[in-house]
Formats: sequence, C-alpha cells, structure tokens
Amino acid sequence: MSEVLLEVNRLKKHFSAGNRFFGAQAVCKAVDDVSFTIERGKTLGLVGESGCGKSTLGRCVLRLYEPTSGEVKLEGVDISQLSGRQLKAMRRDMQIIFQDPYASLNPRMTIHEILREPLDTHKIGTEDEREAKIAEVMAIVGLRPQVLNRYPHEFSGGQRQRIGIARALVLEPKFIVADEPVSALDVSVQAQVLNLIAELQEKKGISFLFIAHDLGVVQHICDEVGVMYLGRIVEKAPAEVLYRHPKHPYTQALLSAIPIPDPTASKESMKLQGDVPSPLSPPSGCTFRTRCPQASSRCKEERPNSHNTGEQGTEHLVACHLYD
Ligand code: SF4
Repeated sequence: MSEVLLEVNRLKKHFSAGNRFFGAQAVCKAVDDVSFTIERGKTLGLVGESGCGKSTLGRCVLRLYEPTSGEVKLEGVDISQLSGRQLKAMRRDMQIIFQDPYASLNPRMTIHEILREPLDTHKIGTEDEREAKIAEVMAIVGLRPQVLNRYPHEFSGGQRQRIGIARALVLEPKFIVADEPVSALDVSVQAQVLNLIAELQEKKGISFLFIAHDLGVVQHICDEVGVMYLGRIVEKAPAEVLYRHPKHPYTQALLSAIPIPDPTASKESMKLQGDVPSPLSPPSGCTFRTRCPQASSRCKEERPNSHNTGEQGTEHLVACHLYD
C-alpha cells in the first residue's frame, strides 16, 4: 500500500524588497500557498520557467530557507518545529543534488574527503563502515575507487554530477530534492544521469522532488508532475495523465515546446509570448493572463482556485477559470 513520506501544506515564502525608509516595501511571493504530498519511493516533478519559485520551494522543503508559513512533514513530523539534535537528524534523511555540480563541490577537497565529511559530521558507523559506505556509493554512481584522491576539477560535468549524487546518497536519505540536476549537462550525459536517478528511486526506494524547467526532462522519471507559475502550482496530475491531457494553458504551452524526434509528426504549437512577469508586481487575477491566449475579463479580476478535474478517482488539479 502507498504511504505518504512527505507532506507540504500551504507553504509560503515571501521576501521583502525595496526601501522601507522611502515608502512602500514590496513583497515578493516566491512561493505562495503550495501543497502536495510525495509517497515513499515516488518522484514528483516540479516544472516551470526560471523565476517561477521552484528552487525556492525545494529549499524551503529542506529548511535551507525558513518558510514564511505552512507545514513540511516528513513521516508525519513537522520539520519546522525541529531544532538542535532533532533538526540535525532530520537533515540526514533529506538531501539535495544541485544544478551546478562544480559550484557545489569544494574544489579544495578530494572526492574521498567530500564523501567522508557527512559521515564524520553525523558520526555514522565505525571507521571501516564509513569507508565501506564510500566504496558502496562510488559503485552505485559508476565511479572507480581509484579516483577517490582526485579533486573535482579533474572530472567532466557528468562525472561531477555523479559525485554530487554520491554525496547525497552517502547518508542513506529517504528523500532527495534534485534541483535541475541535468540542466548544466550535455544532452548525451543527461540521459545517463536521469537513468541513474530512476534506478535509485526503484532500487533504494528514495523519494524525489525533481525540479526542472522543461517538461521533456521529467517525462520518464516522474510519477506525478506539478507545473508552477509565479509561486503557485497551476496544474498537478499523474505524469501519464498530464502529458496526454494537459489542461492548463501554461502546461499546454510548455508541452508544445518539447521537440518531437519524428520530423514527419505534426504537433499544434502554442508559443509562449514574453517572459515571466516580476513576482514583485504580478498581474491581478490569474497571474498567467498576460501570456494566456484564452484569457477573458474574468481572468483579470479573479484569481482561479485549484480544482480537482480528474476522472475515475484520479487527482488532476487545475487552477484555471476554464475548468471552474
Ligand atoms: Fe488563462 Fe484565464 Fe485560465 Fe488564467 S484563468 S490560465 S488567464 S484562461
């Protein structure tokens, strides 16, 4: 039976911006009332353009940023209430893989030191057990033990991302935020890293929040996909439902941007116009209305709530007046 591992309830992260001595201080609602759950061993993909709040959300879930309000529960325990030793223990269970593996690895540490550090910090096992764990994660990510004494700059981008994944795995986490883990890699290497993540999900039963700016990347490794726009999830559904029957105009536009490998196949293209508006002054009503080809006067006045539009017990959430 499926079991919820992570539960996020009404999470908000608002940043203040502007000068409070000279008038109004603007508020940037980077994450604005977001809720979702992830089951044990499952992956939720979170997709949207740059500036939609995906990475901020991932960091709030791990408490790398303190949320403004809302709850994050891991196995039923609200992590926002934890401090000291309990918080440190929780950090062992929740890890992150960063977008830029080079920037996230200390250039002055060898790979062995990078992998050993979390084990020492958390005082895991004996000396021999720590070394055995390092050997195990190196094998899992497909790196030879002979390279342990090398430094990050001696590796290719794909290998560095494998080291980043090994570092996330060494503490045997239950949950990993993968923050655009393949965006900085060549297309040929992307598939290898995605396959590795899919294997970890299956063999180790790890749950992932997989953040990407492109629906094509998450298509084959996510059980569910959430589409984010200006701090909110505007559509969320099981992956096969979302790719076959996208409902929100933003999701439809993101999907139509994925190239089809068959040159003879025809596809209706819906090009996204303009950029994501500034979260400091979002449009009124539906924040997507300034780019939406189906916007009506109602969309300017009223912010759409999220509704379940799924059939036969499937949860397919959409925040758009076309589905009220
Ligand atoms: Fe477009 Fe209106 Fe739906 Fe927003 S609510 S996505 S503007 S149709």
